[in-house]
Amino acid sequence: MTDRILIRGGIVLTQDPELGEMPNADVVIEGDRISAIGKDLSADGARIVDAEGDIVIPGFIDTHRHTWETCIRTCAPDFALITYFSAILDKFAPHYRAEDVYSATQWGALECINAGITTLVDWAHIMNTPDHADASVNALQATGIRSVFAYGFPNTSLVDWWFGPDYAGSVLTSDGDEARRLRSQYFSSDEGRITMGLATRGPGFCKPEVVRHDWELAKELDVDITVHVAMDRFGYTKGQITALRDMDLLYPDTTYVHASHFTDEEWELVRDSGGNVSLAPQIEIQMGHGWAPAVTAVEYGVPIGLSSDVATTASADQFTQMHAVFGSERGRKHQQAWDDDLDGLEASPGLITARDALFWATLGGAEVAGLADRTGSLIPGKKADIVILDGSAVNMAPIIDPVGAVVCAADISNVKTVLIDGEVLKEDFKLKTSLDEPRRQVEASRDYLLDKFGEPEPGWLPATG
Ligand SMILES: [Zn+2]
Repeated sequence: MTDRILIRGGIVLTQDPELGEMPNADVVIEGDRISAIGKDLSADGARIVDAEGDIVIPGFIDTHRHTWETCIRTCAPDFALITYFSAILDKFAPHYRAEDVYSATQWGALECINAGITTLVDWAHIMNTPDHADASVNALQATGIRSVFAYGFPNTSLVDWWFGPDYAGSVLTSDGDEARRLRSQYFSSDEGRITMGLATRGPGFCKPEVVRHDWELAKELDVDITVHVAMDRFGYTKGQITALRDMDLLYPDTTYVHASHFTDEEWELVRDSGGNVSLAPQIEIQMGHGWAPAVTAVEYGVPIGLSSDVATTASADQFTQMHAVFGSERGRKHQQAWDDDLDGLEASPGLITARDALFWATLGGAEVAGLADRTGSLIPGKKADIVILDGSAVNMAPIIDPVGAVVCAADISNVKTVLIDGEVLKEDFKLKTSLDEPRRQVEASRDYLLDKFGEPEPGWLPATG
């Protein structure tokens, strides 16, 4: 007999257009899947989880996070993107040992589960040796999180990997043989809890022959690409999409990260090729990438997922991302209404809603991660990736609009229960895994990397006393 769980009497926000929002419903889980959702269900022998007054949602999806940076969390609160490249990618990353990748990835994945993120796209561009790659995958496996391991490239030198002569001097490329090894060793099935993607640099960051190599590698491996585009004021991120078009490399299901400064033509090309965007709103507005262009993506019909990007500079949970995109995109529209001198009694046009934000943090994210066939919404047949939020908390009650409660009031402290594949990984506000040893490991990595960093240059790191 499979394990059976009945989550009883919650306010269930399924994110499914048919099932919608159910104010008092039960969710039945059989093994790793949801078997039924409805009122007054019974399930013989099931373990009962009382969710009366609580809010039941699909687990959040983080569509882009450099999890390896968790061991240097918040070292760079005031950074803009250019200083991030100089300090994090050029002065920390080359020193990473495989054990640092392990400790950071493990800690970051545990952070995700604690915060109700059940699926993580781990944008792993710290593949300095094959051991680093194994460390990434093994750490994800150890925590039980659902994830896309997006195999990247080494970060051993800023000039080699990002800024060669004329911003396009790199002759290095993603290691095809290593990617093939990982594909066959860990990801021979696409049905496991961890699946594979390819994290690439793309036009502007490397020469056309490198771009072609990486895109063809993704096609050979039959995995999706995720790539940073159109961010900050750097010239090298202009024209990336048209360059891919000219090389006939606009693949469907590619994730374009940030996309802060797409032209109209680029939005059309992404939409028409079946691409999607991952917006990291807190990081984008804080570090200077640009606004998180959610309204524009909606106008063009491009799927949106939210992401936390880097723990070096902001909190890395989906409540933060929902607040950031909800506030910034509405703020932009209100400003436009002011600039257009609209009458004060007229609503600002084009405002996003709280329901939009929750959708992007869940099912929208699952579409972007390529996993909407199994997670992101609560319907019978999907994997049981479920979060229960405490509706009685002092910052949540009284509940009137439950989506408003999730998007505008909730935070990590309200994440009461987390299930992935029907497995309870957090219960009664506590992770099932002890944090003692993982914390010791991540602190040891922090100490080692800070020691290797050497003398901070002005503005690169806060004074250490
Ligand atoms: Zn990123």
